[in-house]
Amino acid sequence: MTTTPRREFLGLLAGTVAASAIPAAARPAAATAPRGLAPVPGGPVMKGRDRGVYVVHDARSLEPLYAETLGDPLPERTPAASVSKTFCAYAALREGLLAETEKIFCDGDGWRPEGHGAIAVVEALAVSCNAFFEKLGARLTWDSYREACDRLGGLSDRLGGKPANLLDRLAAYAHGDLLATGCEELARLGRAVALADPADRALAVVRRGWREAVLRGTAVAANVPGLEVAGKTGTLPGAAAETKFAAFAPLSEPRWVIAARTAGPGSASAAAIAGRALTRLAGTA
Ligand SMILES: [Zn+2]
Repeated sequence: MTTTPRREFLGLLAGTVAASAIPAAARPAAATAPRGLAPVPGGPVMKGRDRGVYVVHDARSLEPLYAETLGDPLPERTPAASVSKTFCAYAALREGLLAETEKIFCDGDGWRPEGHGAIAVVEALAVSCNAFFEKLGARLTWDSYREACDRLGGLSDRLGGKPANLLDRLAAYAHGDLLATGCEELARLGRAVALADPADRALAVVRRGWREAVLRGTAVAANVPGLEVAGKTGTLPGAAAETKFAAFAPLSEPRWVIAARTAGPGSASAAAIAGRALTRLAGTA
């Protein structure tokens, strides 16, 4: 087994198991952009070796506005990867199993072998710390994670069955092994985080984590000056190395939700593709 320093995903073996464990009905065919939609104003933003898809939606109605596909289609849905950390954080905060300021020690993970040190949940979301969410996951119950999936986009029907043992459940919470997500699911999650009830303090913390991811974490490629982008990345392991990104902008008054997925050697990341698309939209706003 090989590993890469930027791998967000728990393990290659777990990844191969996950592909068959996610709901069968959620794994058909292939992902392409919705028919009849044009790229963002100004023409395509995907080029060269880029492979993948993005879809921009109206943040309130979730109506698709712009879309683009390049290269061979990706599988319609794949494991959520680190996008799942959003549900893990929300479940723990909602259930009172984690305080916003509580620090958990990371002494090494796939991102940083020497570890991120003692960090709280907003930073952990920003840097997508594996150790933080593996430890946090040990506090959750399957039902609390499942409810978080339901509350953030109605996604519990995309979740596989409860694994019998704890390590497999941790892989689901921290690494999204059992949650099938394509662009539709990423957009539903993006809208739920974008239009959070101001009284939902747990989700307010999650939103800050998404914003920090764009400002100084795994999604800096999506940072568009003046637009206040917020989002969460996910990265699957292996040769195909899919990256996915659920995001919205602007933070203070959400107007767009964007879902992006890319894969293959040489392709720009999903966050980078979203950043290009959002840069165009910011210029037309
Ligand atoms: Zn870490």
